[in-house]
Amino acid sequence: MAKKYIVANWKNHPDSWAEAESILNYIDEHLKGIANQESSLVVCPPFVFLEEVSRVIQLSQLTQKAELGAQDIAINDSISLTGGISGMMLVKLGARYVIIGHSERRWPRGESAGTGESNQIVNLKIKQALADGLIPIVCVGEKDRADDYIKWLKQQVGATFAGLSGDQISRCLIAYEPVWAISTNPDARPDTPESALESISAIRDFLAENHSPADVRILYGGSVTEKNAKDFLSLSEIAGVLVGGASIRKEEFVQIIKQV
Ligand code: PEP
Repeated sequence: MAKKYIVANWKNHPDSWAEAESILNYIDEHLKGIANQESSLVVCPPFVFLEEVSRVIQLSQLTQKAELGAQDIAINDSISLTGGISGMMLVKLGARYVIIGHSERRWPRGESAGTGESNQIVNLKIKQALADGLIPIVCVGEKDRADDYIKWLKQQVGATFAGLSGDQISRCLIAYEPVWAISTNPDARPDTPESALESISAIRDFLAENHSPADVRILYGGSVTEKNAKDFLSLSEIAGVLVGGASIRKEEFVQIIKQV
């Protein structure tokens, strides 16, 4: 069985390094003695904690179980960009993964258009991350479950991966995250595994037809908790889960990891 990815997206939490360290120490403590060869844990803290999280992972037993990811990357390593963090900086801090195109960046505060990252920006960030040797975790997903959402999703996937070769797509992880299912949205509810599989198949088929990748690894994200994680993780078509809110609830997160 292929390894399952458990990706922790801490977003802009927790507020202090002391709290962040206590999450890591708790995970380290509670995974001791568990071989966990079936899963790959990726911790994506806010930029300000990257260096410290990297150090804790290296100096603890987490070094055999966890890898470091960032939550965003500058669009291009070689242009000046106020506030930007380049891919090469991430690599030097020990990051191996980077989340790209999260819906909270595509549509900040749920705004409908114009304020966030376009598919084209996401596409350029994927190319830069790959050029830097990082593994992009590319988020896609429809905002609403309208009748034609599969058509909309394919358009988003098409524009997000435009110009990428099959080999480049095989090197990415794709996170299918229906925006309405992300826990920070009002009325959020998790997708069902059955309906998530429909979207995941549509994404896989679209990429196969248009880019012929040797492999397409697709995770599910959206209100994953200790109660429903296994429903998604047990499906062979789903390569893992991207966990937001529950990833900073340390007791719950450890329970999610243990379900692989
Ligand atoms: C996310 O923000 O990527 C996410 C999946 O969040 P949550 O698990 O809180 O729904």
